Amino acid sequence: MRYRQLFSYASRLRTLGNEIILAGLRRHGVVGIVPSHGDILHILLHDGSCTMSELARRIGRTRSTVTALVRKLEQAGYVQQLTDTSDGRGRRVLLTPQGRALQPVFAQISADLAALVSRRLTDDEAAQLERLLAKCLQSPDADEAPQPSPAAAHTTSPTQRRVSMSNYRTAHIDLQASRTELHDLLQLTGCEVSCNTLPKGASIPFVHAHKHNEELYIILDGAGTLFVDGQEMPISKGDCIRIDPAGMRCLCASPEQALHYLCIQTKAGSLEGYTMTDGLMPADAAKPSWL
Ligand code: ZN
Repeated sequence: MRYRQLFSYASRLRTLGNEIILAGLRRHGVVGIVPSHGDILHILLHDGSCTMSELARRIGRTRSTVTALVRKLEQAGYVQQLTDTSDGRGRRVLLTPQGRALQPVFAQISADLAALVSRRLTDDEAAQLERLLAKCLQSPDADEAPQPSPAAAHTTSPTQRRVSMSNYRTAHIDLQASRTELHDLLQLTGCEVSCNTLPKGASIPFVHAHKHNEELYIILDGAGTLFVDGQEMPISKGDCIRIDPAGMRCLCASPEQALHYLCIQTKAGSLEGYTMTDGLMPADAAKPSWL
């Protein structure tokens, strides 16, 4: 079989990762959690809460599998389920205080998992491997048939069409979802952009800083409070905030309104040219039908 080793290596890497997770959990005396719960807890520790259907989409499991995993976590006392107030239909999963207490354990396990990779690969190699594996898991049609955009609809020449397709990638996201990360969806190479919704009254359940990335928060709708380095400030639609890597940050939505925001992570100090100093306008470039 062609590429047999690829499947074997990917599976052995996953086994190694699971062993690290189990060893970490044992070391901290955490019971009732297996690696398949890890993805769910990871999302909840980062986002505070998530709907069942969103959890299923983000961890790539069926809804019934996620329901079973969440039920197990609920029995062990780590999560609770509430009726989702934003649409009144779905179930929203939240961490209990016992679940939130797992934050340092997960941070340690994440560091152990990262060390498995960083002891063997450079940052660039690891990023490339991640991109390639993500590409293997993408729908094979993603490249040939991206979501039609208004621009693509106007494109008529087959040559022009093929050239432009290799130079872009599209995704369509639910702007109301609790969190959507664009890095993998679009295979971004210079930034990570997440689109987030905190339900009214909800908070990110931890304070965090970054190693290298500055973050730009753009508040799209709603209101809430931003905490940075001991200071709390009100935020609302239209506010844009840059936070340096070292800033210890946390966000919460106001009790009255959900908070919708974009978070753009870029390596601090990495930007060279931009707009006029990076833009090119070759005179012989193909033009859209409306120019
Ligand atoms: Zn962050």
